[in-house]
Amino acid sequence: MSKGRLFVISAPSGAGKTTLLKRVMPRLTGLSFSVSHTTRQPRPGECEGVDYHFVARAEFEKMIGEGAFLEHARVHDNLYGTSRMAVERLQQQGIDVVLDIDVQGAAILREAGLVDAAYIFIAPPSVAELERRLRGRGTEAEEMIATRLANARAELAAMSSYEYLLVNRQVDESVELLTAIILAERARAHRFPDGRAIGAIAER
Ligand code: 5GP
Repeated sequence: MSKGRLFVISAPSGAGKTTLLKRVMPRLTGLSFSVSHTTRQPRPGECEGVDYHFVARAEFEKMIGEGAFLEHARVHDNLYGTSRMAVERLQQQGIDVVLDIDVQGAAILREAGLVDAAYIFIAPPSVAELERRLRGRGTEAEEMIATRLANARAELAAMSSYEYLLVNRQVDESVELLTAIILAERARAHRFPDGRAIGAIAER
């Protein structure tokens, strides 16, 4: 069985990533979502263990000390991290894993030379549209919207280091495109720079 691969997906908040993932994930088998740890408070409707593992700062810092994170970063004044063990366990079972992480986390993984990962950036059609969506969501305070917009501009500047850019203009179309990107990546014969195959055909 070949090891599951990683799909690293980043997007400024409000770009529509969560909606897209909620529609794309159930369409594909053998694909699992990595539930991150965060020190942020849950938003209304978010569930422990489904959206995030919500932990206290002290616990998060203890996990950093133990090397429990594949990557971690501070985003909008909160800490977020990807559990190394959870991701590796899925990959060992041949399951592909979607990591919804920010541009700092993606850069950490890229620099660590984690080559069997596809990097996908989801962008809004414009900054103005992003602002409209953030306000429409109604879950953030005004001050938080300003922080998120400033971060979004910085994140958009990082999109050229991703292999795929998906501009989310229209949800149905973007669902098809994201599904297609994942399927095409799965059909790739090679990813490693030395040309080593990443897929294998069973004897029987
Ligand atoms: P939100 O608070 O809106 O759920 O997420 C804020 C940002 O944190 C998003 O850009 C999201 O991709 C990012 N994020 C979520 N989990 C992780 C993680 O485990 N690591 C990193 N680096 N970023 C994360």
